Amino acid sequence: MSGKGGVGKSTVTALLAIHLARKGKKVAILDADFLGPSIPKLFGLDDASIGFTEKGIEPAITRKYGIKVLSIQFLLPEKDTPVIWRGPMIAGVIKDLIGKTNWEGVDYLLFDLPPGTGDAPLTLMQTANLDGVVMVASPTELTSIIVEKALNMAKMMNTRVTGLVENMSYFKCPHCGVISHIFGKHRARKLAEKYGLEVLAEIPIDPELAELSDLGEIESYETDYFREITL
Ligand code: ADP
Repeated sequence: MSGKGGVGKSTVTALLAIHLARKGKKVAILDADFLGPSIPKLFGLDDASIGFTEKGIEPAITRKYGIKVLSIQFLLPEKDTPVIWRGPMIAGVIKDLIGKTNWEGVDYLLFDLPPGTGDAPLTLMQTANLDGVVMVASPTELTSIIVEKALNMAKMMNTRVTGLVENMSYFKCPHCGVISHIFGKHRARKLAEKYGLEVLAEIPIDPELAELSDLGEIESYETDYFREITL
C-alpha cells in the first residue's frame, strides 16, 4: 500500500517478490492497481498472455525467477484500453481474480494496490485474509498525514502492518560514495518508532533501478535492500 502514487509502490512490490524468490520461495503478484497497472512492464511482460485451464486462470511467469504475475493488463483488448469501473466492479474483479486463478504451490501472494485507502485495499482487507500490509512511502510523503491514514485504515480493519519501506530514501554518489538524504533523513525510522513498526527496507534513488524497470528487466537488479522479514 501507499498513500500516494509515484512513490515506487510497484517497484517495491517487484523488489520484494524478487527478494523472496531469491530465498527459494514461490512467489506470485496480483497487480490490483487496475487503473494504472505497472507490474507487467517491470518484468517485461507487456505482451504476455495468460492461459485458462481446468485449474483456472494461469498467470504469466517471469523469465528469471519464475514469479507468477496476474494483471488486468493481460485481459484488456488493447494496451491503452482504460479501465473505467466503479467500486463494486473493482471489488468483484479482485475477488474473481483471487478465487479463479491457479495459485497452486505459491508461498507468497503479493498484491500491488492502487494508492490510497479506496475500494481495492478495502476489499482485500475484508475478504483476502491477509497476513499483512507493507506500507511504501517516500521521505516527503512520510511527513504528511496520508501514510498515517493508510496505517490507521489497516488498524481499523484489523490487518497487521508488516512494516514500512522508505523508497527514494537517499542518493549515493556513484563517484565519491557520499550519501545524501535529499528529501530528509530517517523519516521511516521515526514513523516506525511512533507506531511500533519495523522498517523493512530503505531503498535509495538509483538510476540503474529506474533504467532496468523501464527496460522490463527489474529481475537483473542485483542489490537487495530488504532486511530479514517475517511476513
Ligand atoms: P507507484 O507504483 O507508487 O506509482 P512506481 O513503482 O511506478 O510508483 O515508480 C514511479 C517511477 O519512479 C518509476 O519510473 C520508477 O522506475 C521510479 N522509481 C521508483 N523507485 C525508484 C528508485 N528507488 N530509484 C529510482 N527510480 C525509482
